[in-house]
Amino acid sequence: MDYFPMFAAVRGEPCLVVGGGEVALRKVRQLRRAGARVTVNAPDIHAELLALADRGELRVEASPFQPELVAEHLLIIAATSDHEVNHAVAQAAREATRFCNVVDDGDACSFIVPSVVDRTPLVLAISSGGQAPMVARMLRQQIETWLPERIAALATWVSRWRQRVAKHVPAGHARVQFWQDTLDGAATDQVLAGREAAADQLLAQRLGGGRQPGVGEAWLVGAGPGDPGLLTRRGQFLLQRADAILHDRLVTPEILDLARRDAELVCVGKQGGGPSTNQDDINRQLIHRVRRGQRVCRLKGGDPFVFGRGGEELQALAAAGLPFQAVPGITAGSACATYAGIPLTHRGLAEGVSFITGHRAPGAPDTNWAPLVQSGHTLVIYMGGRRAAALCDTLQAHGKAPDTPAALVEQGTTRDQRVTGGTLADLPGRLQDVRSPALLVVGAVASLAGQLQWLETEPPASRAAI
Ligand code: SAH
Repeated sequence: MDYFPMFAAVRGEPCLVVGGGEVALRKVRQLRRAGARVTVNAPDIHAELLALADRGELRVEASPFQPELVAEHLLIIAATSDHEVNHAVAQAAREATRFCNVVDDGDACSFIVPSVVDRTPLVLAISSGGQAPMVARMLRQQIETWLPERIAALATWVSRWRQRVAKHVPAGHARVQFWQDTLDGAATDQVLAGREAAADQLLAQRLGGGRQPGVGEAWLVGAGPGDPGLLTRRGQFLLQRADAILHDRLVTPEILDLARRDAELVCVGKQGGGPSTNQDDINRQLIHRVRRGQRVCRLKGGDPFVFGRGGEELQALAAAGLPFQAVPGITAGSACATYAGIPLTHRGLAEGVSFITGHRAPGAPDTNWAPLVQSGHTLVIYMGGRRAAALCDTLQAHGKAPDTPAALVEQGTTRDQRVTGGTLADLPGRLQDVRSPALLVVGAVASLAGQLQWLETEPPASRAAI
């Protein structure tokens, strides 16, 4: 390690910025955010800095660098565009044993400023020791997206409880374990879901020696259509916390890999025609597990509320009086169209979109096609892959023009995505051994796929060779 990492307490302390331009302004803002009393020394001073000085929030020394200012300040930042002035500042700081940062000149610095992820009271600092600041910045961006949304609220909540916990739980291993269990447990889930009162109640019960209530929670989460990158951040976060994951067959292994190593993975999936766990059994299993105190992630392909029976599962939980949360997913209709280059609505081509199922339970009345055909909407037909050819005929029989563009998207958003385009009249002849899952898109917008398709997929030959 080339540098000693530390966070400096500059609140109320005098700090000097030499320079009066854009860079100096940025440094002044950073120092002020941490509460420093800032002096700016430069012959020409940015209007925004002058405005701060007018409000009495900044001391300004409008002159060339004055070395005697250095000794009056705790930290020094040289932010001029003049190499020699910056060096004179660094020299003066060294003589006065003050920490000095010279912007963009690592060799002249006695301290460097890290990239920062600010979720006060939680602050993450990342440094490459000045060697590769762009890598530190990239990492910062990744961490920003990876941090749970309400991590700052969690840190504040913990700080609010710290003293009370310290009074009840002896220092050392017991207390470390207490906090570890808390952060892994239900109270933290409640804080991160924005329910602090419930979290307080849980922690108070634990501190009072009460038994942890034996009720878990169900999280209905949409996994998106296949590409793991399309899982939402909240979905991923809950997936990583769950004790058990009850998933559909459509959920890809890459997404299941995100689960905790010790989580129970249970496939309760249905696949067109194949064996599936009966819906009542799934509901019963959910309820049983949540009652036993498990945090169960019910993970479904796409969006749980679009042909996913997610509503039925929540009704069962509600009827049993059990707590749940729901997280939407990107539904296949939206994702497959986007990955195939088909805008579902497009000015002049489609003013609306209808999501329809192509699968009818035996004995169920047939879809009322007439209004759908007349609407001029793009029709997105789920669960119709195997029947795609028959559906093209049905739509024509109900008055859709034979030259209406149509596209079948198989295994959309995955490496194996295949898009077959055509018209209602000729698409059936172009389809070969349709692979599920597949989705049929019908309407003028489907013709844009040729122009807007952007996803690079494996050619079928190399696919077969894998
Ligand atoms: N809840 C899911 C839909 C479940 S119904 C969602 O919102 O996406 C299952 C149907 O979704 C499949 O028969 C198929 O029509 C469609 N589907 C799901 N994933 C798909 C994918 N990756 N590519 C093409 N179609 C898909």
